[in-house]
Amino acid sequence: MKYKAIIANKERQAEVITKELRPLQAGEALLNMECCGVCHTDLHVKNADFGDKAGVTLGHEGIGVVEEVAEGVTSLKVGDRASIAWFFEGCGTCEYCTTGRETLCRSVKNAGYTVDGGMAEKAIVTADYAVKVPDGLSSDAASSITCAGVTTYKAIKVTNIRPGQWIVISGMGGLGNLALQYAKNVFNAKVIAVDINDKQLEFAKELGADMIINPLNDNVGEVIQEKIGGAHAAVITAVAKSAFNDAVDAVRAGARVVAVGLPTESMDLSIPRLVLDGIEVIGSLVGTREDLREAFHFGAEGLVVPKCQSRHMDEINDIFKEMEDGKFTGRMVIEFNK
Ligand SMILES: [Zn+2]
Ligand SMILES: [Zn+2]
Repeated sequence: MKYKAIIANKERQAEVITKELRPLQAGEALLNMECCGVCHTDLHVKNADFGDKAGVTLGHEGIGVVEEVAEGVTSLKVGDRASIAWFFEGCGTCEYCTTGRETLCRSVKNAGYTVDGGMAEKAIVTADYAVKVPDGLSSDAASSITCAGVTTYKAIKVTNIRPGQWIVISGMGGLGNLALQYAKNVFNAKVIAVDINDKQLEFAKELGADMIINPLNDNVGEVIQEKIGGAHAAVITAVAKSAFNDAVDAVRAGARVVAVGLPTESMDLSIPRLVLDGIEVIGSLVGTREDLREAFHFGAEGLVVPKCQSRHMDEINDIFKEMEDGKFTGRMVIEFNK
């Protein structure tokens, strides 16, 4: 059987090509894809920023309906909706896989990078690693939660924030606006939204941000220390070094600063600040299958509502261009049945 897929080609462009479906192997399931969100990471893969991946099907925010399962598969059945996430599969036996840190597995497979991803009419998943989408959660919303949602949900979990405490969310783009919703509506924290774009800050206000700060107008650390004596935690989704430095300046003693954004520079870190104030700086990478189950659950309950816009697969290069130009807020989601 033939199906259409979006790949990165040798010219560093995305391209819709026809692929031949291979037979299922033990443990696998075939998904008839409904949609797949477009993430900044796809742009990096397409541009060969992490090495040449020409030919691989892009996409790690895929949602599809199970069409067929290989013999012996019990975790999925025909008709279930399931996800294709960046964390596609771990080895299942290493020190990370067996201690709740499977995303750090050294032989991890990533969808749309090491293996074919979700930007296609058909996709094959390892059934035990594809998380089921609960009823009551639309496929569009689920696609955003599969990457942006679970990444920010996990990052907030890692901060150990408690109800009523203040958390800085730096960067209010596709990740940040979901981080804000999880922080407020699930963790019941007070949110300080930080972004250099006033439009994004306005959106943050609409979503319930308790304080907004534009670093182009105000000194983030000073304002937060002055007003509330420092935040209890910070999550940085922004991709500027200054956002990382600001976050450390903005928190109180004993706080955790969790890094999600990936600028290629190093951050400044005052060692006396680290030691004397007991600040913890931690990196957080996507989320485990269990994190994704939880993140889906809160989406299904309506506590987190991703902002999505439907697009056609032929528009992929336009979408990447708009992304590079920073033209949209929320998520572009490719629909395969339209
Ligand atoms: Zn992503
Ligand atoms: Zn492993």
